[in-house]
Amino acid sequence: MEKRKSVLTEKTINMIKKRNHSMDLKSTKEMVQSLNKDGIIIDVSPGWLSMTGYVREEAIGHFFGEFLVDESLLKTKREFPHLKDYGFVDNVSLKVRRKDGVVMEVALNGTSQYSDEGEFERTFCELRTLDYYMRSVHAINQLLVYEKFLKTIMYIKANISSILLNKVDYDYYNALSEILNEPPEIIQAVIEPIPEKFEFLDENKKSIIKYAKETFSKNTITEEKKVFIIEKKSSLEFPISSEYEDYSMITKINDNSMPNKERLLIIDFNSSEELLQEWIEAFMNISEIIESVIQSLEINLKNKALITELKRLCETDRLTNIYNRMMLDKILINQKNNYEGHNKNCSIIIVDIDHFKKVNDTYGHNVGDKVLCEIANLLKSNIRNTDVVGRWGGEEFLIICEDTDLSNGMILSESLRKEIQCYSFTGVNKLTASFGVSEFSNGVTIEQVIGKADKALYKAKTEGRNRVRCCVSSY
Ligand code: GH3
Ligand code: MG
Ligand code: MG
Repeated sequence: MEKRKSVLTEKTINMIKKRNHSMDLKSTKEMVQSLNKDGIIIDVSPGWLSMTGYVREEAIGHFFGEFLVDESLLKTKREFPHLKDYGFVDNVSLKVRRKDGVVMEVALNGTSQYSDEGEFERTFCELRTLDYYMRSVHAINQLLVYEKFLKTIMYIKANISSILLNKVDYDYYNALSEILNEPPEIIQAVIEPIPEKFEFLDENKKSIIKYAKETFSKNTITEEKKVFIIEKKSSLEFPISSEYEDYSMITKINDNSMPNKERLLIIDFNSSEELLQEWIEAFMNISEIIESVIQSLEINLKNKALITELKRLCETDRLTNIYNRMMLDKILINQKNNYEGHNKNCSIIIVDIDHFKKVNDTYGHNVGDKVLCEIANLLKSNIRNTDVVGRWGGEEFLIICEDTDLSNGMILSESLRKEIQCYSFTGVNKLTASFGVSEFSNGVTIEQVIGKADKALYKAKTEGRNRVRCCVSSY
């Protein structure tokens, strides 16, 4: 046959030549063959032999057409010259007859090798079976599954971290469970105390935890810190695919708030066998993250409780448990601002126990202390929610009445005076108190308002005690 000029550029031909020179069929797992110019097999790969079932001697030196069904033989007669002259063929579908007689469909892809002078020397062709394509489809699927796995783990980690950053202090175990349950690969995830009784759990959780407890007692693998079990669930009612199975992973999480200092993290998930180890490692990692989230939340909650307690101690009087002087000063400033900014009335009442010195002298200091506490409770339980009572000093109390003008302050004082008069104090029986009332007015300082109430109190004392007086004189 007259040699046709290749349509390929010089450069491409050189590239093909270079590539083919280094081809070693012995090391290739694929089904590869090399033919001479007459279509005689001069070399085959181990994959070629195992796929066709022939031994090497039965292939080498034979015409490739002998291994093909008739129609495919005709096809190669058309394609072979093209391969020789143009240097390549793509996806020529052929039917190869194996040694056992079974006909096998293949797609032939090939290139030619030329001498330095440009003379055709031999072909290298790969025969791709359906199996080849299935393998690559499988490989792509595996990659997609792996990508999904990574995304799932990233999603879980990112959300758990955000709980940590936002320092959620509501039921964070529920929040963590919600996050774990979000990805579709996770069938169910629970973070539960290890209960002795199951009464308060719903049926689903009950069975999971029972299962976890049983598994733990049966075969426990103890590591330095963690305990974990992977159990393949034996029977699936509707197995979707044999590649994917349900697994359960159980780990113990340290939690100091629990009596036995631990919780169970149980995750039922769906995974392929190949990815199982990856899932396990990821879950172990996640359980460690959860543990550190729990620890930091615990510290956070403890700090909050501590701050609340400190605040309470700063604001209250140790003996009577009502607001102290510091807190009263603070509230007076707020009330003054309210009066000036929003024209809101506010009256104040100073209460002073009559002849209290005598109580101490007659019954002792402890009884005196008790009386102070009883007076504080009496005042506190007979004022409105919006009123505030605190210990002003010694045996004096201050009541700050929001939204209350002087006359209403007087009315409240009078009712309190009666309450005290009627009360039976422990170890003392009857006592009375005097009241001085004043109200905020334009251009008057807090000290002046207090001064007015003091003046009124003095008036009540000098006029015979056990009475309410107010001061209206201007400064
Ligand atoms: P008056 O009717 O004029 O108010 O007479 P009084 O005796 O109540 O007034 P005075 O100011 O002379 O005495 C107040 C007493 O209150 C003196 C002090 O021993 C007592 N006292 C102050 N703080 C406390 C306390 O925390 N506990 C006790 N038991 N007594 C206190
Ligand atoms: Mg006094
Ligand atoms: Mg007194």
